Amino acid sequence: MNTRRDFLQKLTAPLIALPFLPRNCLAANPDLKYDGPVLRIAIMGLGSYGNRVAEAMQSCTKAKLVGVISGTPSKIKTWQAKYNIPDKNCYNYENFDQVKNNPDIDAVYVITPNALHHDQVIRVAKAGKHVICEKPMALNAKEGQEMIDACKKANVKLLVGYRMHFEPKTLEIIRMRNAGEFGKILFFQGLCGFRIGDPTQWRLNKQLAGGGSLMDIGIYAINGSRYMVGEDPVWVMAQETKTDHVKFKEGVDETIQFQFGFPSGATASCLSTYSMNNLDRFFLNGDNEFAEMQPSTGYGPIKGKTNKGELMYPHVTHQTVQMEEMAGIILEGKQPVVPVDGGEALKDLKIIDAIYEATRTGRKIDLKL
Ligand code: NDP
Repeated sequence: MNTRRDFLQKLTAPLIALPFLPRNCLAANPDLKYDGPVLRIAIMGLGSYGNRVAEAMQSCTKAKLVGVISGTPSKIKTWQAKYNIPDKNCYNYENFDQVKNNPDIDAVYVITPNALHHDQVIRVAKAGKHVICEKPMALNAKEGQEMIDACKKANVKLLVGYRMHFEPKTLEIIRMRNAGEFGKILFFQGLCGFRIGDPTQWRLNKQLAGGGSLMDIGIYAINGSRYMVGEDPVWVMAQETKTDHVKFKEGVDETIQFQFGFPSGATASCLSTYSMNNLDRFFLNGDNEFAEMQPSTGYGPIKGKTNKGELMYPHVTHQTVQMEEMAGIILEGKQPVVPVDGGEALKDLKIIDAIYEATRTGRKIDLKL
């Protein structure tokens, strides 16, 4: 039954989400003009996602694109013209260690193919700059630990591009779960996939991708199961299926289904695939209530509902909010609701290692995260 309280909750819900919006998205109110510290960022890898992040950062107040690192001189020229980037803030993959002598760059955002993250992040750390790295942070837990160690040694922050950790509907479901509104959490389902095109792209090259769908899209179900259930899994089982052995070569997974067990007794069942479209769905079941998101991790608008009805939060550009919040984490020591640091990413890498081991051996793998 819909009560007045439910009605009021729906009305006020968008207001609760507002702190997660970048200030300049709120209104053209001169009182909100930001004159605090700004995180000055160079993007490494000017590809599809790098372009999206750069575009989104134009609406940030605390984060500013000031530099580029690229292997393609023509892209550097285009970005310089588009984003007003001076020559002194442009680097390539050979000379970017020199960023250490550039006082106008605070952080580097690594948005290159997965296999390159490890070495590039470590080089940025050694240059004394904070690092934001795209998911998956590395190819395996060993690499991930080395990256964390390098950043710790260099006394720089390491954050990973988990943009969903700042998405208002996701955060509202986490808030409701923490408040006990779903009751005891019993089950999570995460379905993540798309039909991949061009067979020559790096995502289908084991050397550059480190695997297949699991590294790229399945990681959303892995990470999502953790922030939706609110626990880390203690065991994993997994099964791999492959219909196209030409497109998906040895070591490049097409489809993997995996299951988790959590300390509370809750379980998760997930699907990661490169061969099915329209798979972007989270479902969380408690013994009182449920939450459902579809789409759940795409660029949005994210749609979410619970027993109480649809979540009415406004759509935000994920990368704008992410960069605004990450600037706050690096500059002001802000604590996000769900962590986005190297330790958080390392847990996902340990799970990925275990999933691949489970597909190879057919065994249930115990996890200690
Ligand atoms: P793209 O292929 O579109 O871009 C990657 C860029 O990396 C290239 O354009 C190139 O830029 C640079 N690069 C350097 N070395 C190589 C190489 N050997 N092969 C290919 N490219 C190279 O990939 P995406 O932008 O889609 O993905 C990049 C990273 O971002 C991945 O780790 C991916 O998982 C992640 N990602 C995250 C998303 C999210 O929502 N969080 C969404 C999409 C991707 P240049 O020419 O400037 O050197």
